Amino acid sequence: MSNSRRAGVQCTNCSTTATSLWRRNTQGEPVCNACGLYYKLHGVNRPLAMKKDSIQTRKRKPKGSNKNTAAHAATRMIKLEQHNGKKSFLIQ
Ligand SMILES: [Zn+2]
Repeated sequence: MSNSRRAGVQCTNCSTTATSLWRRNTQGEPVCNACGLYYKLHGVNRPLAMKKDSIQTRKRKPKGSNKNTAAHAATRMIKLEQHNGKKSFLIQ
């Protein structure tokens, strides 16, 4: 039991203690998953302003966006129909 929960480990960059995976920075200090990935990607330390209180998950449904999406889809279909039917370039 040495690699799952290490007591007292804290991200050197953002000071979080909760992460799905501990990583190490170039100095070998422990950093959280987000900071480690950010550094790999950008080559700089993750700005702490980006830190969220909770660990980010991938599939997130924005609340109340269903109506919007439906309306968008409907509009798009109407536009397509018009476009196909008239073959004109007047519809913008
Ligand atoms: Zn971090």
